[in-house]
Amino acid sequence: MNQGQYFKSKANILVVDDTPENITLLTQILSSQGYKVRISPNGKLALESVRSSPPDLILLDIKMPGMDGYEVCQRLKASKQTCDIPTIFISALDANFDKVTAFMLGAVDYITKPFEYVEVLARIENQLRLRRFQLELQAQNAQLQLLLTTTQAISEATDVEEALEAILANVCKTIGWDFGEAWIPNEEGTALEYSRAWYASDVRLNKFRQQSETFGFALGEGLAGRVWLSQQLEWIADVSRENDRIFRRSGIAAEAGLKGSLGIPIGFAKRRGCTIGHQVLAVLVFFQRHEMAPDERSLSLVNAIATQFGSMIQHKKAEAALRQANLELQRLASIDGLTQLANRRRFDDYLSHEWKRAAREQQPLSLILFDVDYFKRYNDCYGHQSGDDCLQQLAKAASRAVKRPADLVARYGGEEFAAILPNTSAEGATAVAQAIRLKVQQLKLPHAQSKVSDYVTLSLGVSSVIPTEDCLPEILIAMADEALYQAKNQGRDRIILKAARTSLTNNP
Ligand SMILES: [Mg+2]
Repeated sequence: MNQGQYFKSKANILVVDDTPENITLLTQILSSQGYKVRISPNGKLALESVRSSPPDLILLDIKMPGMDGYEVCQRLKASKQTCDIPTIFISALDANFDKVTAFMLGAVDYITKPFEYVEVLARIENQLRLRRFQLELQAQNAQLQLLLTTTQAISEATDVEEALEAILANVCKTIGWDFGEAWIPNEEGTALEYSRAWYASDVRLNKFRQQSETFGFALGEGLAGRVWLSQQLEWIADVSRENDRIFRRSGIAAEAGLKGSLGIPIGFAKRRGCTIGHQVLAVLVFFQRHEMAPDERSLSLVNAIATQFGSMIQHKKAEAALRQANLELQRLASIDGLTQLANRRRFDDYLSHEWKRAAREQQPLSLILFDVDYFKRYNDCYGHQSGDDCLQQLAKAASRAVKRPADLVARYGGEEFAAILPNTSAEGATAVAQAIRLKVQQLKLPHAQSKVSDYVTLSLGVSSVIPTEDCLPEILIAMADEALYQAKNQGRDRIILKAARTSLTNNP
């Protein structure tokens, strides 16, 4: 019997006695008060009866042939499923009844024969009331525990999906449901989309998840869409009996062995001018393999969650948006507006970072500084707008030539560019410089005022060292700068290398 039914009808009592007259008498007394009575004439049958359907209370005779009442009680208390069922012993006064043994075995009370029926009823009702309080306390504890652990999990979650996943998992585990999913309204607010958050009690439900992912619901459509519209909790006793038009996944849910389904809205109050509206942030849908009977305790538990966590989820959402905005701001702060390459600030940070790492790991670090030959003449001839276009194209060409993820191409200033190449030897860096030079040659950007070519060309200075802790990265810049100066001096449109020990020229 589930907890909801417990309050809707009188309790279910199992009477265990080997004397037919006792059974008849007790059945009459209890039935007249509206209790549902089951009987067992011996201990063995009593245990079977309890196992197949646990009663709310057991009246247990002690002297019985075969297994006596003490042993039955002992066995009930030894099992996790039956240990909490209140058991009252009934025994004849002359049967050498040991009250201490009865309590030690876990009985909650005892009644001596011959009994007064008012006393029997009073003792039973007393125990049932205690049991009810105990169940209520357990439920309240479970609710508090759930709220606590979920609150904790949400505050630790990094985004909305992770927070929803925490709710789904905690609810399913607490109430014993098999599957939980979350639907989130799309940005336009026109349809519900399947979120990344979900929980399944076992892997066999993964297929159901995959199939469900292809669904979407409009306002009022399907269980999720109806909950979205009504902003009220709603359940379906057995989805496999639903019309596919109403519950669009009934076929695949039935295939996955799912029956009971419950949808709850997660929302928060939102102020619009003078009125306070309610916005649904997500619809949670739970499934279980059993048919769902409306169960007050579970429903009040999920209701508590729906009202508690709406604002937390909203807060998470705002947090995530803020984080995204900060990332974008950071990105913008490190980007050169014209060329979309890393800017000088980012160049300085990255060089210093890579310098330290290379020193630690004793790996070579290389740098290429390059600029456009006769760029002032180019601007004078074609105008500044064309000059900017030229720089943009050069930036793209250089980016294509520098391939490794750790390499960084930056706008160093004006028409000057730089490439930082971690873990790259002098030879490797020279090869990259050649690649940049080649890509720019291939652009064939006309430069009528150049003294070295009909097209735009570059001069490139390459430096490469294995850094040491006591040196600063400025040395690498100074070397590349000197190499670039030499490239200019020696006639432009060429690459000059300055490595830590050797210095070689690499003319076209
Ligand atoms: Mg007996």
